Amino acid sequence: MSARAGVVYLVGAGPGDPGLMTARSLDLIASADAVFYDRLIPPGALGGARSDAELVYVGKAPGDPPIPQEEIGERLIEAALAGKSVVRLKGGDPFVFGRGGEEAEALRAAGVEFEVVPGVTAGVAATAYAGIPVTHRDDASAVAFVTGHEDPEKEESALDWQALARFPGTLVFYMGVKRLAANAAALIEAGRDAEEPAAAVERGTMDGQRTIVATLGTLADAVDQEEVKAPALIVVGSVVERRETLAWLERRPLHGRRIVVTRARAQASGLAATLRVLGAEVVELPAIRIEPRLDSEEVRKAVDSIRDYALICLTSPNGVRLLFEALRAAGLDARALAGATVAAIGPGTARALAKGGIAADVVPEKFVAESLVEALGEVEVSGRKALVARAVEARDVIPEWLQQQGAEVDVVPLYETVREEPDAEAIEAAQTADYVTFTSSSTVTNLAEALGDRFPSAARIVSIGPITSETARGAGLEVDVEAATHDIDGLIASLLADTSPG
Ligand code: SAH
Repeated sequence: MSARAGVVYLVGAGPGDPGLMTARSLDLIASADAVFYDRLIPPGALGGARSDAELVYVGKAPGDPPIPQEEIGERLIEAALAGKSVVRLKGGDPFVFGRGGEEAEALRAAGVEFEVVPGVTAGVAATAYAGIPVTHRDDASAVAFVTGHEDPEKEESALDWQALARFPGTLVFYMGVKRLAANAAALIEAGRDAEEPAAAVERGTMDGQRTIVATLGTLADAVDQEEVKAPALIVVGSVVERRETLAWLERRPLHGRRIVVTRARAQASGLAATLRVLGAEVVELPAIRIEPRLDSEEVRKAVDSIRDYALICLTSPNGVRLLFEALRAAGLDARALAGATVAAIGPGTARALAKGGIAADVVPEKFVAESLVEALGEVEVSGRKALVARAVEARDVIPEWLQQQGAEVDVVPLYETVREEPDAEAIEAAQTADYVTFTSSSTVTNLAEALGDRFPSAARIVSIGPITSETARGAGLEVDVEAATHDIDGLIASLLADTSPG
């Protein structure tokens, strides 16, 4: 054999919340040559895969027969023998009702090396997010994970209902929704108390998680009535009552609110993450994308003569990032800015500068060009060279003012903001949004144009500040909330205030 055989990693991707993926799983996905994945993996789980990695879906498509287990095993073996590093990604934990054991056996039989990377299994995760501790000193000293849906090819039930009825602790059923009525009846028949608290946890740790509490005797009807769908877990045990005190998910201030984030994908993560921590369901519907324009003549000239500028104005974190990138490409670093007064349009831009080792000399309190002009009033610019590094399509307030002050101004576009084509799924999800957030005029214009009559008209509009609001009104939108301070934190604070008036 020429190439050394690769290793297959049987990796658990956790129960659905991307934040519950292990560090090891993310590392392996990032370096894999091939990833074979199932349906129940967290959204974005493959986002960190290499762009040249082979991504193969081996889950079941609705309506289609599942790919036979032997075939999955064969494909893993084939990829490994071709020398590839293979990740076999499964929901939850690979060895808990995940058929990971069977796949590992097939690998071993073929002489392929493997490693098992545990994941957070739904039985502990969905319950934890529902505020149900599967064990508790006072209620349950044991927990059993049980399949509620057996291999239909098995002749006899492998489940010993008598033993399960006597089990001194919590019962957690996986795959148990379809057969819930039959299973509950079997348990009661075998002697388990029909009055025992029981719950169904639907979509545990994912957007739209729901928990339905009843008793062992009534849960099946309740689940029917509420139309609980897979994936869902069934929990039987007195620990279910602890939820009354321990439910935490539903207490978060933005729980149950669907919020659209329209920032460029590359910048959306901070806002989206904070909204999620507050309990919101976030729909990322990026309206714009940042296209660097670092290869232009203007940029080259500005970088070559960077030390001649007495004043350097930066109008966005993107601008800062790209200016540093342009400097680096020319073999320069932060020291090239040492002699200049450096002005940032707002705190976010100042933070980006600080990351590059530059403490901005001028930062206005308000995040608009007019405020920067006001703050610049102190700086002597007449007869000196000033650089305004910014987006192609930015407003001209700053350069015009500098010119009036007698400065020799170079306006250098570092990037262009272009429309991002929204994906159909995100547009669909946005239709039932409670809020749409706008963080700049360009997000308003581009989203309004891209969506047309698919714009979620019932959603409340949240704007980061007066300029963005003006653009929104110009596009025929009514602004319901305008941030009191014009940055991301201010936008979140004003949105929160809007959800709990008074
Ligand atoms: N290996 C997985 C389980 C796969 S079996 C793990 O360790 O979690 C699939 C069953 O797991 C589903 O039918 C459901 O009962 C349960 N399940 C998986 N993800 C779930 C989730 N997010 N919420 C509730 N139940 C889930």
